[in-house]
Amino acid sequence: MSRSALPPRRPGPLPEIPPAETDEILSSWLSRSAALYKARPEALLDQVGLTETSPAVLDRYATPADLERLAVAMRSSPHAIRRMSFVGKPREALEFVAHKKPVWTCRQCAREFTGRSQVQVKLRQWFVAVASMCRRCGGRLTPMRTCTARAIHEIIAAHEPYERHTFVCTRLARAFDDERPIGAVIRAMKALAAPLPTNPRVFYRARKRGHLLDFPDRTPPLLWQLVGTRQLRHHAHSYRYWRPPANRPYVAWPLVGQIVATVGLTVLEQAGLAMWDQLKSLGLVEYGDHFIVKNILAAD
Ligand SMILES: [Zn+2]
Repeated sequence: MSRSALPPRRPGPLPEIPPAETDEILSSWLSRSAALYKARPEALLDQVGLTETSPAVLDRYATPADLERLAVAMRSSPHAIRRMSFVGKPREALEFVAHKKPVWTCRQCAREFTGRSQVQVKLRQWFVAVASMCRRCGGRLTPMRTCTARAIHEIIAAHEPYERHTFVCTRLARAFDDERPIGAVIRAMKALAAPLPTNPRVFYRARKRGHLLDFPDRTPPLLWQLVGTRQLRHHAHSYRYWRPPANRPYVAWPLVGQIVATVGLTVLEQAGLAMWDQLKSLGLVEYGDHFIVKNILAAD
């Protein structure tokens, strides 16, 4: 970018502020505002006296003091600014939120935004992994990544598992919006990936310890041992040993992984208390998770 044209540092609102779009994410609005002054958003945020100057970080962790300062600079309110972000969402809920780059786009809205400003508008809903509808126009969202895995096409063609995945996503999106304890869902999906030992002695020792030992790639994850994932097992043959990477959030799992995890969740939900008790004794889920998951997945 050429030389910045930021106004000199002074208290009060910026002289010119582009109006925020419906459901626009905070970082997008800040980047568009900075572009108006031919500046990088970090420079603008520094100028208005924020302690955090990364727009992507502000989307998640803006402090109350930064929200106050932004409200003044952007002629808004801390509440309205907070609503443009994911600030205040618990850590587990952020597992469903993409960082920096959206996972969805809306063709209709993106077409309207083209050419409006140097920096493309990004909507908040486009960052939520389990979203399906655009908040601005109500249209269907389109995934940003193109999926080439054969398993995906097979699963979609088979209808049933993919429909189940879509249903679970709708329920999770609602739970996410309603600030329900979605950590139970994440724990259950990760428990599905646990390589439960088939040897009773190993199993007994693990229970006594209260956690599983790591047997990488030895036994299939629990997900593939459950009755009810047969159809999925048939299509996702190359994913038989797939499990969510330990330190990556749900939003970053491959789509096949997300599908097997959501479908597996519905199977686990039906699995009965004995299974949940076992997972609890291995430290994989917490007390009450079963009921929370059941409640979140319950149809209307
Ligand atoms: Zn739209």
